[in-house]
Amino acid sequence: MTIQYTDKPIPHPALWGIIYRSSTPFWEGIKEKKLLIQKCKDCGKILHPPRPMCPGCHSTECEHIEASGKGTIYSYTTYSKSPHKSFKAPYSVVLVELDEGPRLISNMVDVKPEDIEIGMPVEVAFDKIDDDLTLYKFKKAG
Ligand SMILES: [Zn+2]
Repeated sequence: MTIQYTDKPIPHPALWGIIYRSSTPFWEGIKEKKLLIQKCKDCGKILHPPRPMCPGCHSTECEHIEASGKGTIYSYTTYSKSPHKSFKAPYSVVLVELDEGPRLISNMVDVKPEDIEIGMPVEVAFDKIDDDLTLYKFKKAG
């Protein structure tokens, strides 16, 4: 018996490794406190989130470049109630537009939710959770 949970097509298992490998350099870079973003070698388009193929020219030849880590807050929201005990409210989720163009979702460090503004200059900060996991966050540029 087969149980179908979704109508969405599931990628062929042969692609799972490719999808996983596409984001590996990004997360390995975060561990080394580097914000690596994917760039198409053929047309130069910046790609984020990482993917196996450029949506602009369909090339599979991509590289990772180190981003400046600088950007501005494009949008944000503040949670006044915790959706789960792991999240202590109030806290904010920010959408940061990097100087290189892509937008990343994360949290702010060392900034109170009421002090966050759209257009605020920010820079990346790294939060080492343990030896296997480091997260990228943003702090007010200074
Ligand atoms: Zn391309």
